[in-house]
Amino acid sequence: MTQSVYPFGLAPAPGRRRRIAVIAGDGIGPEVVAQALRAVEPLGIALDIQHFPWSADHYLKTQETLPKGALTELREHFDAIFFGALGDPRVPDGVVAKDVLLGLRFGLDLYINLRPVQLLDEKLCPLKGKQRRDVNFWVLRENTEGPYVQMGGSFKRDTPDEVAISEDLNTRRGVERIIRAAYTLANVPHDSSHKSPRVCMVDKANALPHAHGLWQRTFRQVAAEHPNVSSSHLFVDVAAMEFVRTPERFDVVVTSNLFGDILTDLGAAICGGLGVAASGNIHPGRCSLFEPVHGSAPDIAGKGLANPLAAYLTLAMLYDHLGEHDAGDRLRRAVEEVVLAGLVTRDLGGQLSTSECGDAVLRALTGATRN
Ligand code: ATP
Repeated sequence: MTQSVYPFGLAPAPGRRRRIAVIAGDGIGPEVVAQALRAVEPLGIALDIQHFPWSADHYLKTQETLPKGALTELREHFDAIFFGALGDPRVPDGVVAKDVLLGLRFGLDLYINLRPVQLLDEKLCPLKGKQRRDVNFWVLRENTEGPYVQMGGSFKRDTPDEVAISEDLNTRRGVERIIRAAYTLANVPHDSSHKSPRVCMVDKANALPHAHGLWQRTFRQVAAEHPNVSSSHLFVDVAAMEFVRTPERFDVVVTSNLFGDILTDLGAAICGGLGVAASGNIHPGRCSLFEPVHGSAPDIAGKGLANPLAAYLTLAMLYDHLGEHDAGDRLRRAVEEVVLAGLVTRDLGGQLSTSECGDAVLRALTGATRN
């Protein structure tokens, strides 16, 4: 499972340094990003790294969220974005997070939200009797549609007659491309013990017959093109139960934006929590954004309590996107090593601070722990 199975990367660019935009953001974002970036030098692949200040502090000083021209600059001049977290109680309505993160997801058309659900150590799993091989799958969350497009409105607000509507937008094009991405991932040879790869599509077509009827019809059509893959379907309530009861039944799960949001937090929980959950917001072959699943966690910001491992695992996904699978695998192995050795922060039952955990990853990466 430390082996890369990433089929969405950039075309090779021999002789050119990759350009990485870093948006460290708010709260624990800058703390975990700073730790993860310590791995860049020992990994030995020269990157051009440029930091962007977009955050609550920047907004409070300048009123700027995502500046004009940023999307074009990132799309045309950068290979990937390494993102910490956005969210700050001083900023009303999460306007910075909305403008920057949703702005980048939609503006760069990052339609695949890819989240590994991969247990690093049995000790971290809250499920009885489950081993590492039992919790080892991917969730692909549709990332550009659903209720997140913010269609809808309210009427007679703050009165007893208030009416509120949020639309769940699903397009044939959007649904089809995320389902196809799931099959692309399933068809990459990986270390599952199963003979044929498995794709499970999760929806709620019994309650949402129009929107999720589209998911069902599209899924059946794409599945028929992949007879080598074992294709199945679950309603989201059953899928949530199965994540807990029999996680070993999953290889690749594909679902809508909202259900993916919820299911992947559950996925993180069965692997040890938000401190070890990585994600990519991806458009295959284009500049894509990699972020830990956790948010800015203002309650622990600045205290040295943040677990940096999700950020390291996220950086490993970024290396995969650059085509640097070796570097990604080395970083994942280093994280695995520190988790197995118990060199972890308090959220995982350890004693280390953020930077001490970073030191341990660095030692594992450079082989210092084996000397
Ligand atoms: P946001 O609004 O930015 O999503 P949040 O506090 O609502 O922030 P998260 O940041 O995702 O949500 O975190 C929820 C809780 O989980 C935090 O309050 C924190 O206690 C814990 N947590 C999250 N990330 C980490 C981490 N990397 N290390 C340790 N604890 C974490």
